[in-house]
Amino acid sequence: MRVLLVEDDIPLSQQIKKDLHKEGFVVDMVDNGIDAEFMGAEEPYDAIILDLGLPQRPGLEVLSHWRAQGNKVPIIILTARDAWHQKVDGFKAGADDYLAKPFHIEELIARLNVLIRRSQTQDIGSLQVDGLKLDEEHQAVVDEKGSRSELTGTEFRLLRYMMMHPRVVLSKSRLTEHVYDYSSDRDSNVIEVYIKRLRNKLGNELIKTKRGQGYIFGKPSQ
Ligand code: CA
Repeated sequence: MRVLLVEDDIPLSQQIKKDLHKEGFVVDMVDNGIDAEFMGAEEPYDAIILDLGLPQRPGLEVLSHWRAQGNKVPIIILTARDAWHQKVDGFKAGADDYLAKPFHIEELIARLNVLIRRSQTQDIGSLQVDGLKLDEEHQAVVDEKGSRSELTGTEFRLLRYMMMHPRVVLSKSRLTEHVYDYSSDRDSNVIEVYIKRLRNKLGNELIKTKRGQGYIFGKPSQ
């Protein structure tokens, strides 16, 4: 899952980025409203964390512009403590959730997971497809026979994205965009390597290659 983090308090955003990374998110950071609006419009994020008090362009304005352009990405706003009107204005402008500063990182992660799950799948329980169950807390996967495989960071990010989008063709470039951040050297051929590793762990049947198009995750629907 790829997240845009918009926050002008640099030590805070570096800490959030580090913590989110541990949870299997890739994070792009921007520290002002102008860059935020550009990145949010150009890149396919799975969620955006948006501080409202920003230099160059206020967060609320950035948020309304995205929504006016039809951008439906889930957005959680960071508001000042006790500023109830910011929450109301934020929801009116199209925010999906808010968190008042200071907050515990665990709460941000929990809210982010719910938002993304809600926007990408119907199921907000644990992620389960065709007998395969993802253990998001420990970054592992359990198959239908109950045998468990640990996943590396990239394998986990890739598998989670595919499990959230079963039975559709996922191109290598789409997978790359959701598994790596903006600054990474995004070579889509690397995806092949990780697909191979996942097949070694999960068997060959769950991830099919669509020649020239990409991959399909999951057994075909009856
Ligand atoms: Ca701020």
